[in-house]
Amino acid sequence: MVDTNNWIDRADKLTLDIRNFIDGQSVLVAGNQRLNKYSPRDGRLLYSLNCGAIDDVNNAVTNAKQRFDEGQWSQLPLQERKAILCKLADLIEANAEELALLESLDVGKPISAALAMDIPVAAAVIRNNAEAADKLFGKVQPSDNHCLSYQLRKPIGVVAAIVGWNFPLALAALKIGPALIMGNSLIVKPSEISSLSVSRVAQLAVEAGVPKGVFNVVHGAGAIVGSALATHQQVDLLTFTGSTQTGKQLLVASGESNMKRLSLECGGKAPNIIFEDCPEDLDAVADAVVARAFWNQGAVCTASTRLLVQQSIKDKLLPKLVERIEALQPTDPLNPDSAFGALISQQHMEKVLAYIDSGIEQGATLVTGGQQLMAEDGGFYVKPALFDQVNPQQKIAQEEIFGPVLSLLTFKDEEEAITLANNTLYGLSAVVWTQNLARAQRMAHQLVAGSIVIQATVNPSAGPAPGTLAVEGHRQSGFGKENGLEGLETYAVTSSVQFFT
Ligand code: NAD
Repeated sequence: MVDTNNWIDRADKLTLDIRNFIDGQSVLVAGNQRLNKYSPRDGRLLYSLNCGAIDDVNNAVTNAKQRFDEGQWSQLPLQERKAILCKLADLIEANAEELALLESLDVGKPISAALAMDIPVAAAVIRNNAEAADKLFGKVQPSDNHCLSYQLRKPIGVVAAIVGWNFPLALAALKIGPALIMGNSLIVKPSEISSLSVSRVAQLAVEAGVPKGVFNVVHGAGAIVGSALATHQQVDLLTFTGSTQTGKQLLVASGESNMKRLSLECGGKAPNIIFEDCPEDLDAVADAVVARAFWNQGAVCTASTRLLVQQSIKDKLLPKLVERIEALQPTDPLNPDSAFGALISQQHMEKVLAYIDSGIEQGATLVTGGQQLMAEDGGFYVKPALFDQVNPQQKIAQEEIFGPVLSLLTFKDEEEAITLANNTLYGLSAVVWTQNLARAQRMAHQLVAGSIVIQATVNPSAGPAPGTLAVEGHRQSGFGKENGLEGLETYAVTSSVQFFT
C-alpha cells in the first residue's frame, strides 16, 4: 500500500505518460525525435516524449476553430461559463496533492511550496478571472434620439498559449482563466521540460463542463510545436510567458503569418532597493530579501536578484544575509521539510554555474555558495550564491540568470539608486524599502517596472488576490496586460456599433 504521506513512495507509483489533449481525447504526441526529461532530484530518466509535429498543431487548431464557430462555449451565457470555470478551480483544489507532486517532480521545487503556492494560485487565478468577467462593462456614447453608439466586446477566436517551465500550471492558469471566460477556444503548449500537469488540468476542465475541443494541449519542442502555433494562420491571439529571446521571435512569427495579436510576458532582472530609512528591523528585512531572491530556486521572473543597498547600512545588513543564505540548504524536493530544492535540468544548472564563474572572472566577490552539491546523487543542486562588490556592467548584474544567484551593489543616494535600478534592458518588477513616503512616491514614478512593491513595513497585510491586479512588462520584459479587468480585455476584440433607429 502507498503511504500517502511519503511523497517518494507516491512518486515511485506514478506512470508518467505525456499525451496531447485534443478535442477531449488524450492522444500520442507525434514527432520523429525523443525528448528525454531527467529528474531534477536524482538525474534519472523521469519521462520522455516525442518532440511534436506540425500535424498535431494543425489538428488542434482546426478543432479549436470548429468548436469556436459552433458556439457551444463561445456563445454560452457568461454566467454559465463562470460556473463551469469556478468548478474547474474547485477540481484543481480537490486534486491538489496529485498536481503538486507533478510540479515538484518536473521542476525540482519543494513539494511543500507546490502545495502551498503553485496549486492554490492556479485555482485562484482561474476562479478570480471567472468571477471578474461580469464586472467588465463596455462604453456607450451619449447620443441623440436616433443613434445609439456602443462598444460590443466579443471573444477573439482561437488563443494559443505558450508557457515557460518555472510554474507550469500557475503560468498556464494565467492564460486559461481569461481566455476561457471570455469565450475563446484555447490551445496550451507547456514547456517541453515541464510537461506533466497541464494535460491533467485539461481533463479536469472537461469534467467541470468545458465542451470538448475548447481547451486543448499540445506538447513538444518550442522550435517545432511552439513555432507552428506562432505562425499558424488560424491562431488569433498568441499569449506567451517565457524568455525575451523567444518573445522577439514570436513578434517576427506574427508579422510573417497572419498578424495575430500578441501578449508577451518575458524576462526580468528585478532590483531590490534598500534605503537607510527602511524599517528598523533589519533581521526581518534580510528574511524578506532572501525569500524574494531565492524562492523557487531563484527561477522567478520577478525574483529580486539585484540587491541595491545604500552604502551606510551595508555592513549591518550583509552578515544577516549571509547567515540566512547559508541556512538555505538544498534538499530533495520530495522531502516535506525541504525549503530549497533542485534546479530543473543539468543544462540549466550548467548555465547557472557558468554565470557564477563569470561573476568571479569579472571581479565580483563570491561571499557564499555557488557550488554544485550532492552531485553523487545525480540531482541538479546548487548552493545559493551571494556576490558582493558587483560592478553594474557585469553579466551577473545585467543578465537574467533565473537561478539562485544574488548580486549586491551599493549606492550613495536616491539618484544613484534609480540609475542603477533602471540600468538593464528589462522592466518587469522592482522592490523599494523605505519609510519615507515622499521618496516612495518618487521611486514609483521613476522606476521602469511594470510591478513595483514598496515596503514601508516588514509586516505587510495581505496583497491583492492572485490574478486581480493588472500587470504589464516594460521595455524588453514584454507587453500586453495580464490579470485584472484590463487583462481580460487582452482576450477580447471590440466592435463599435452605431445603431440608427
Ligand atoms: P523559453 O522562452 O525558453 O520557453 C518558453 C516557451 O516557449 C516554452 O514552451 C518553449 O517550448 C517555447 N519556445 C521556445 N522557442 C520557441 C520558438 N522558437 N517558437 C515558439 N515557442 C518557442 O523560456 P523558459 O526558459 O521556458 O522560461 C524562462 C523565462 O520565462 C525567463 O526569461 C522568465 O523571466 C520568463 N518568465 C516570465 C514571466 C512573466 O510573467 N513575465 C513569468 C515566468 C517566466
